[in-house]
Amino acid sequence: MEQPISVTRSNFNDWMVPVFAPANFIPVRGEGSRIWDQENKEYIDFAGGIAVNALGHAHPVAVNALTEQATKLWHVGNGYTNEPVLRLAKQLTENTFADKVFFCNSGAEANEAALKLARKVGLDSGVAGKSGIVAFKNAFHGRTLFTVSAGGQPKYSQDFAPLPNGINHVAFNDLEAAKAVINEQTCAVIVEPIQGEGGVIPADIEFLKGLRALCDEFGALLIFDEVQTGVGRTGALYAYMNTGVIPDVLTTAKALGGGFPVGAMLTTDKFAPHFSVGTHGTTYGGNPLASAVAGAVFEFINTPEVLEGVKHRHQYFLDALNTLNAEHQIFEEIRGQGLLIGCVLKAEYAGKAKDITTWAGEEGLLALIAGPDVVRFTPSLIIPEQDIDEGIARLKRALAKLAK
Ligand SMILES: *Cc1c(COP(=O)(O)O)cnc(C)c1O
Repeated sequence: MEQPISVTRSNFNDWMVPVFAPANFIPVRGEGSRIWDQENKEYIDFAGGIAVNALGHAHPVAVNALTEQATKLWHVGNGYTNEPVLRLAKQLTENTFADKVFFCNSGAEANEAALKLARKVGLDSGVAGKSGIVAFKNAFHGRTLFTVSAGGQPKYSQDFAPLPNGINHVAFNDLEAAKAVINEQTCAVIVEPIQGEGGVIPADIEFLKGLRALCDEFGALLIFDEVQTGVGRTGALYAYMNTGVIPDVLTTAKALGGGFPVGAMLTTDKFAPHFSVGTHGTTYGGNPLASAVAGAVFEFINTPEVLEGVKHRHQYFLDALNTLNAEHQIFEEIRGQGLLIGCVLKAEYAGKAKDITTWAGEEGLLALIAGPDVVRFTPSLIIPEQDIDEGIARLKRALAKLAK
């Protein structure tokens, strides 16, 4: 066999549209919560592909589902349904509030579908001008034009004006501010149960309950964006299950495929029929390959052992981080649920989160940021304790560089 073309990190700058600034090494192989780069240097993975690799790397359950389906049927298009997608839809509807599922390929597409559904429900209501969307400052919902517009970080949307209009942003966790803008013309409220990219900021339960009541009062859809919090990340199958608040629409992606691109919008029999034949669609959504992998990943995660394991690992992580912090006094607060953990830097280290992840890479640790002041960890849901220990030891060495 011919050798594959040799490539280096500098080729990224040669050939790739520069929307990303990847680390200066190239991962080539992974197993569990460890990764190796081109030089065979080993890394502990606390990033999990940004809350995606829920079973770590090369987990046999996912590998088997993928390879088995790969020999059978990859794609047929939406003129035909397929067995893996129907099985996955059964799993998602049986284990959540939802009755119906729309499949797509990413979180942004799931949110795009949710927002379009809400606009359609608003139109069908017959109430004039019922197209308003209420969203929250600092929120992240994806990178399509509609979803950057719904997102609450103007730096992601302002360069692409004119933006879709009718979207109102108010402060997160401020129920009075939401109350002031939700009315008869509101068709949807979209919210993350924990703002992930925005800094790992949990929504207050009373805030979510208040949004539920306002949506009920004014006939608006309550959309939970669980792209980051879903599929076991918080120790519950979905984060809404921790809150006692049931949304009308839930979006899920990231961990759903364990690394295979897939997304879904879940809703109820009340709203699903507003998306009738031809009103929305996608070529790849619900393709057999993605659905087979997601089905296997979902089944593996949705067990008491794995979900309890996430809660256990949360505590284990927090104990280790608190011990480290007692010594080094770098973090002002350590927050989050399950294996979505944010470490907020003390004021004197503000803006240093990116540097810390760079130093972590030098020490053999993959970590994330959530804004300039928060170091974020979203590892595999089944990361072994010894990998947590080793990763924390490497983090400690990376943080030593901060003091200098
Ligand atoms: C990552 C993320 C998205 C976007 O998902 P993509 O798959 O990148 O399109 C949307 N919402 C939240 C909360 C996310 O964390």
